[in-house]
Amino acid sequence: MTDIASLGYPRLGARRELKRALESYWSGKSGADELLATAKDLRLAHWKVQQAAGIDVIPSNDFSLYDHVLDAARMVGAIPQRYASLKNASDLDLYFAMARGTQRDGQTFAAMEMTKWFDTNYHYIVPEIENAQKFQLNSTKIIDEFIEAKEAGIRTRPVLLGPVSFLLLSKPVSADGVPLQELPNLLPVYAEVLEKLAQAGADWVQIDEPCLVLDLDQTQQAAYQEAYARLSATKRPRLMLTSYFAGLAENLNLAANLPVDGLHVDLVRAPQQLDDVLAQLPAEKILSLGVVDGRNVWRADLDAALAKVQKALSALGAERAQIAPSCSLMFSPHDVELETELDSDLRSWLSFARQKLDELNLLKRAAQDGVNSVAEEFSANRKALESRRNSPRVHNPETRQRLDAADDSMLHRQHDYQTRKAAQAQKLSLPPLPTTTIGSFPQTPEVRAKRAARKKGELTQEQYDEFLKSEITRTIQEQEKMGLDVLVHGEFERSDMVEYFGEKLTGIAFTQNGWVQSYGSRAVRPPIIFGDVTRPEAMTVRWSAYAQSLTKKAVKGMLTGPVTILEWSFVRDDQPRSETCRQLALAIRDEVIDLESAGIGVIQIDEPAFREGLPLQKARQADYLKWAIECFQLASSGVKDETQIHTHMCYAEFDQIMDAIERMDADVISIEASRSKMTLLDAFKQRQYSRDIGPGVYDIHSPNIPAQDEMETLIENAKQVVPIERLWVNPDCGLKTRKWDEVIPALTHMVNAAQAARKKLR
Ligand code: GLN
Ligand code: ZN
Repeated sequence: MTDIASLGYPRLGARRELKRALESYWSGKSGADELLATAKDLRLAHWKVQQAAGIDVIPSNDFSLYDHVLDAARMVGAIPQRYASLKNASDLDLYFAMARGTQRDGQTFAAMEMTKWFDTNYHYIVPEIENAQKFQLNSTKIIDEFIEAKEAGIRTRPVLLGPVSFLLLSKPVSADGVPLQELPNLLPVYAEVLEKLAQAGADWVQIDEPCLVLDLDQTQQAAYQEAYARLSATKRPRLMLTSYFAGLAENLNLAANLPVDGLHVDLVRAPQQLDDVLAQLPAEKILSLGVVDGRNVWRADLDAALAKVQKALSALGAERAQIAPSCSLMFSPHDVELETELDSDLRSWLSFARQKLDELNLLKRAAQDGVNSVAEEFSANRKALESRRNSPRVHNPETRQRLDAADDSMLHRQHDYQTRKAAQAQKLSLPPLPTTTIGSFPQTPEVRAKRAARKKGELTQEQYDEFLKSEITRTIQEQEKMGLDVLVHGEFERSDMVEYFGEKLTGIAFTQNGWVQSYGSRAVRPPIIFGDVTRPEAMTVRWSAYAQSLTKKAVKGMLTGPVTILEWSFVRDDQPRSETCRQLALAIRDEVIDLESAGIGVIQIDEPAFREGLPLQKARQADYLKWAIECFQLASSGVKDETQIHTHMCYAEFDQIMDAIERMDADVISIEASRSKMTLLDAFKQRQYSRDIGPGVYDIHSPNIPAQDEMETLIENAKQVVPIERLWVNPDCGLKTRKWDEVIPALTHMVNAAQAARKKLR
């Protein structure tokens, strides 16, 4: 018989119960007991949902109060030194201090760093590993939760982040450290955990080694050999070695032959690997087939999935195969049934975590008893897929025609950067070291209250628009008072930089409850791009033009770029992502041209997610960069020489994308730089980046108000690397999360710092 397995279930609860419980605990409104009770209820509820859906292999320890990598760090006792003096804190509070930082007895304990989990929008806490790090079993969460399930009558397969991925995802405490070198110290703790699980009655463990899909050097490959040889020498449960997010590629041979008992492969991201996997898998091992997409929202094509399953079954036999989602379902929203406001068409095309369990079940029954045993369900599935394929809402011939007709000339500005720079200098007549901001000004409780009131119908559109105008007026006046050179309207009409555009474009839908965890208690509701994208009318021109009417200074139009809209959405799977991105780019291009016609001479197209889209494997990166750059070019190139195009990216790793940034051909790029004290500009210098740069001098993630001389120093550092005639002065990112009484003094200091630096030029 073929089992169906779940690799992990969403943690926060269908109604984000965990979010509320966490935030109530953090604010002191409720106690640890209440939080832990909510967590326990959720675990049980999720086990029961999976059990009721007929899942044979149900995971435990997929739950986390904050993050599963932090759980692993705590499990092995990798508690950074700086928390040692966090005396009399409970285990729970120490855990949250690591996750979020804390203040105690006048002392500040900084949080551990957070970074993106592979190419998802989930963020994990980065473990910190010392040279000669001491590890010890420090938390029995994985064993406790296995027992908890067992006592509730549910046999589970605990999920454990594998030791090699754990170290590869960590960072060293000292500059010369290499976490992977600590593997020999770490393995005894893993062995102990596995032995304890075996004693508690676990017969299988899901050991996640997602780093197996990355490009691994010889040392890293050897680490895998060493780790699993060591773990196989213990009295342990059987191990299901789990890979996801890409194919095993060069590491297939390695992964297939490690001394474990099963291998899980992602056949959604990498369907083509099935033949090779079947050829290489040693005869005694079980293969877990990841055939239902754990990371997207579309109803599975059951016939196609079944074909893969049957191929595997005929090669391996029923006993040696499992049917599973491609990865944990934590990247899917909970339940389509909660989407009462989506029309029934669209709803019938979707499958969230809860529905994916049913899809697994149908696949099992079809594989076992033949498709006829589930004929009705398969036929409903085919019908839904066909309705999606043929829906006029998915296909817009006009968008297609325009893109077919788009040629290379649409990807290039009329002249090169030097020529444009001269034209722009004449038109804009800016001082050296021009000052600007990244777009948003504080989204105050008042702004949010008015938006909510408009949504509830308590304000008319007219009243709401008047309010937005008054906010814009105030923002323009403040910027003039502070003496900024290129002004913005403040983005008050936007709740979110992707949602705002998504709501104005066709082909994109929004959910009421489609939450997915971003980090800790934070969840986002990504838009769902289901059809061809069109822009029925201008989206931002009205607000930018209004702002421009209030001032003689240049107002910068603000847009979200096509790659970022794509990256932060659930994307249709019936055409290449590049094609969907091109459609978004065309819509943004139209907006850029309309802004120019309305008299906006500076236009910024934000691409903070540009780097995120980079595929995990080097072999695939060039292709991505090619189409992503072309999409940015398509969006931005429709304007005259004298119109200045800005872009913005806020992160610190530019090394891999420097050439791409050059080829995007924006006139100005603003980047996050203040925390790194401008050292990241070295990448720009080394690659001889030739266009204008605005390295951030104001860390907007902190409530601190930087002093003028601090910012002067940063400008001075930047001047060492970027020629003065190409240097801009701006914050790291938008000011949306800050307060007016922070941004006014901070930006005033910034403008004064720029003026002081200008004086030195004479
Ligand atoms: N223009 C956006 C803002 O200022 C940019 C935000 C971002 O980079 N994430 O809010
Ligand atoms: Zn930013």
